[in-house]
Amino acid sequence: MSPLLFDSHLHTPLCGHASGSPREYAQAALDAGLQGLCFTDHMPMPAWYDAPWRMRLDQLAEYIETIQAVQAEFAGRLEVRLGLEADFHPGTERFVERVLAMHPWDYVIGSVHYLGAWGFDNPEFVAEYENRDLGALYTQYYALVEGAARSGLFDAIGHLDLPKKFGHRDPLGAAALRALDVIADHSLSLDFNTAGWRKPVAEAYPAPDLTRQAAERGIPFVLGSDAHRPVEVGFRFTDALKLLQAVDARVVTYRGGVRHA
Ligand SMILES: [Zn+2]
Ligand SMILES: [Zn+2]
Repeated sequence: MSPLLFDSHLHTPLCGHASGSPREYAQAALDAGLQGLCFTDHMPMPAWYDAPWRMRLDQLAEYIETIQAVQAEFAGRLEVRLGLEADFHPGTERFVERVLAMHPWDYVIGSVHYLGAWGFDNPEFVAEYENRDLGALYTQYYALVEGAARSGLFDAIGHLDLPKKFGHRDPLGAAALRALDVIADHSLSLDFNTAGWRKPVAEAYPAPDLTRQAAERGIPFVLGSDAHRPVEVGFRFTDALKLLQAVDARVVTYRGGVRHA
């Protein structure tokens, strides 16, 4: 199966901030001519961490059963896989490890959404950027990305340059390149996340120069729309593939935690 038209970053209403049933996402993928999709909803974390924005641990079984029902319904027409978008936040690794051991996930994305207690990608808290030195912010952020890559918990790093979401671009760039070296050393992939095109920055994650730097290091990409609504499934994949092919990037998917070309 060609990995080129496979959406591997999708949410469900269980996370509390997405709409549309999983079967509607699958139908949207079929309608868009995709070959498959992998649900990667926000995974349960310890109760004190980001609770309103993710499923609870006692909803995990419902998540698995719901996606398995969609797999059965679309069998033979659309490949439906089951993964998670995990968070990397120092101190939570053992909890995450325990949740990841509860099911043989197809694909696990490791994302950094917090710097300390600040959810820096939450529009509610965007004013906090005014209190920060952007160079220091990105240095701190990419150190966490390196931690995610070294943790051994994840298949790919989610939306690599996420702090640019509202237009606050990295003024330095060196920390990002160091993170790419670590990501390559640990054989992880990168989520090529088209949601950035729907945000104020109006650019996919990662930026074109980082995409090229990653491709030069042999890091493969996994296409993801980060859809929180069925209409976003496969969002701007044609544009994404153009950018990736222009830098000779490898596009892959994951099944059972194994990379497929
Ligand atoms: Zn979300
Ligand atoms: Zn995310």
